[in-house]
Amino acid sequence: MLTDGLPGTEKSAEAHLAEAFCGNREAVEALAGMVVSGRMPHAFIVEGADGLGKSTFAGLIARCAMCTCAVPLAGTCSHCRKLREHIHPDLTVITGSGKTNAIAIDAVRAMRTDCRIAPNEAEKRVFVLEDCDNMQPAAQNAFLKIFEEAPPHVVFVMTCRSAMHLLETIRSRGRIITLYPVDPAEGADFLCRQYPTTDKAAAAAACEQCGGNLGEALRQLRPDDGGKQAALEEQAAGIVRGILSAMCGSSELTLAAACHAIGKDRALAGAICIRLSEALCCAMMVSVGAGETLEHPSQEVLRLGTLVSASALMRHIQEINMLSDWLRINISMPLFNTRLAIVLQRR
Ligand SMILES: [Zn+2]
Repeated sequence: MLTDGLPGTEKSAEAHLAEAFCGNREAVEALAGMVVSGRMPHAFIVEGADGLGKSTFAGLIARCAMCTCAVPLAGTCSHCRKLREHIHPDLTVITGSGKTNAIAIDAVRAMRTDCRIAPNEAEKRVFVLEDCDNMQPAAQNAFLKIFEEAPPHVVFVMTCRSAMHLLETIRSRGRIITLYPVDPAEGADFLCRQYPTTDKAAAAAACEQCGGNLGEALRQLRPDDGGKQAALEEQAAGIVRGILSAMCGSSELTLAAACHAIGKDRALAGAICIRLSEALCCAMMVSVGAGETLEHPSQEVLRLGTLVSASALMRHIQEINMLSDWLRINISMPLFNTRLAIVLQRR
């Protein structure tokens, strides 16, 4: 098993966070500082308008609380991987219900019992309470009780449009992180990196028009699917990182498991083929010594470029393109996933 951080490829926790979250230097630096010092508060309040990435940032806090990568947040440990694939048993996301979409007191009471249970796999359990603006004072007070007697293995993250919508007693106990719109040009670059099928000019225009609110810009770029495409791309990105990371290791079983994470969704498999080919093209550039021309190559791409020859990478890309064609002629998905794992084996 390889460890992280080949010479020259090591990135700081802050760089990994900045790659995953656009702009907001202050928030990113603060979180990176907590990771490096090993001092995480046990309660966060992430505030900001809709579309500024509160849920994404809450997910990053969860990663920071759980990650065991040799280089913090490199994305290679089982916690990073499971959080990316939204299957980590130690992350609980609580959302509101009913007309006001408020988190009900019953949900808070259930969490009170739940949070006493020790983590399954990580050192911490993270509870994310989404959109707490409409939470009734009774529910907030019930939450305050949990806050005060929280076991040390628990981290709470509340998201809201404004921390001023929370009781002062809660506000004063949480570390408040405020998110802001980003520079439109930086936002457009970020969107194109996250969603490679996005048209650059359209992304620039949308970010400009939305004043750097990336969620709004994404909705404008993909108005019809209610965020489905964005969710699919995010899922694809997570699985591709898992596959690339498995390709860097030597276990064929890990690679097979990473490929079978695709499941039965053909659209997802298609998006994965595109991303995987692109990543392997980048690794090929690293392999032939042209890596400096790449913008923000991931840790996995840099490692693969060092580990795998350009000709082998070329073969992988050809095989992926062929598999992508087979998707269109209805190859069975278990067969697709298995075949992908076989063709990506490092020999
Ligand atoms: Zn990790």
